Amino acid sequence: MNQPPVLISEQDIQARVAELAAQISADYSDKGDIVLVGVLKGSFIFLADLSRRLTIPRTIEFIAVSSYATGSISSGAVRLVMDVRGNIENRHVLIVEDIVDTGHTLKYLIGILESHHPASIKTAALLHKPERAEVEVPIDYIGFGIGDEWVVGYGLDYAEHERTLPYIGIIEPTD
Ligand code: 5GP
Repeated sequence: MNQPPVLISEQDIQARVAELAAQISADYSDKGDIVLVGVLKGSFIFLADLSRRLTIPRTIEFIAVSSYATGSISSGAVRLVMDVRGNIENRHVLIVEDIVDTGHTLKYLIGILESHHPASIKTAALLHKPERAEVEVPIDYIGFGIGDEWVVGYGLDYAEHERTLPYIGIIEPTD
């Protein structure tokens, strides 16, 4: 496969992740510690970079959902594949998502995590496609707003490929 054209460079991503980490660290400075809940698989690189730049005490959990089949065609419903393992009751939770598209996945995740009775829930997404929103969902920290295009890299895939591309690139889905 040819290298996908660059939408957001590695440098721009790193600079924005540093800004988000500084903002999150400041916002939570009076709250003790937070638990970052990374949404598998797409958020794993964003979570790794963001978490290492925070200056507040933090722990890491993962949750896995499936909202798309293969490629870029939505399968419709969101399904819980793996819940968080640690106890998040009375903890300050920050959901770390790769991208918010229609908003269904994040809305579903908030519902699942609320059932664990955390002290608070906030959300961070590296990317947001505002034109595609179908449900209203709060995104407290957004890296970049993008248009209606399929993006890969920095954790995001196209049919499981391209997750380790260091930048965000654009792909033309063929299915
Ligand atoms: P939503 O429920 O907001 O429509 O979809 C969120 C999920 O869809 C993301 O976590 C991601 O897995 C997938 N997704 C949406 N748009 C893109 C995209 O442009 N590229 C990739 N790789 N995944 C996307």
